[in-house]
Amino acid sequence: MYDVVIIGGGAAGVGCGITLASANGKFEWAKNKRYLILDANESDLEKASLYNVPVFDYGISGENAIKQMKDHLSFFPSIEFKDDHVLSITGGRGDFTIHTSSANYKADIIVLATGMHKFDIEGLDVEITTHDKVMKPGKIKIEHINNRVTDGIYVAGLASGVKTMYLIAAGDGTKVACDIFEEWTGKLAVSHDSVKDAIC
Ligand SMILES: Cc1cc2nc3c(=O)[nH]c(=O)nc-3n(C[C@H](O)[C@H](O)[C@H](O)COP(=O)(O)OP(=O)(O)OC[C@H]3O[C@@H](n4cnc5c(N)ncnc54)[C@H](O)[C@@H]3O)c2cc1C
Repeated sequence: MYDVVIIGGGAAGVGCGITLASANGKFEWAKNKRYLILDANESDLEKASLYNVPVFDYGISGENAIKQMKDHLSFFPSIEFKDDHVLSITGGRGDFTIHTSSANYKADIIVLATGMHKFDIEGLDVEITTHDKVMKPGKIKIEHINNRVTDGIYVAGLASGVKTMYLIAAGDGTKVACDIFEEWTGKLAVSHDSVKDAIC
């Protein structure tokens, strides 16, 4: 059983996952929490070269940016990253089952960080509409209120309808992680690297 399963391992999914996992070891409420990212390997980053994303080297290829993101994740033992395409999700809050072609995973909370090209996961009662902050036609987003789709389901990154910039998508994933912290703690929460300042 995972506390949070994130579908999509692009900017938003990794932004969310690293923030969640960074709370482990700092707070009693985060102790023993486990996270999983499932990714179909079709991030928009694959096609990009990045010159305006100050967390990466100037001009980094998308491929190398993804490698750096995965390397960064590997510092956090509470999170796993698996290459797998999610086909369907059944159940509800506290008892989701995520079905792929090779395995089933259980989760308390789901984060949909599936990008703007398609939403091909069956079984969820989500409303898909047109992504209106992108120039190209045919892009989609998942309807939500403040990143919350329904009880136990969040949406992050381009799937939530934000503009198509790396830091906006990654930041949206980070925001969703903090929203989940707030569900768990009942108060305003962030995860900073200095324990003294970590929650406020
Ligand atoms: C050519 C190009 C150039 C770009 N250049 C820049 C730039 O210079 N600067 C900048 O800031 N931004 C740039 N971007 C935009 C940036 O890449 C995106 O804003 C960012 O990748 C969006 O992050 P995301 O996590 O929302 O979506 P993505 O990174 O697209 O990730 C979504 C992930 O979800 C996975 N997924 C979807 N459905 C499933 C499923 N059913 N099961 C499992 N996984 C699933 C996909 O495989 C994908 O890996 C560029 C984009 C492109 C295409």
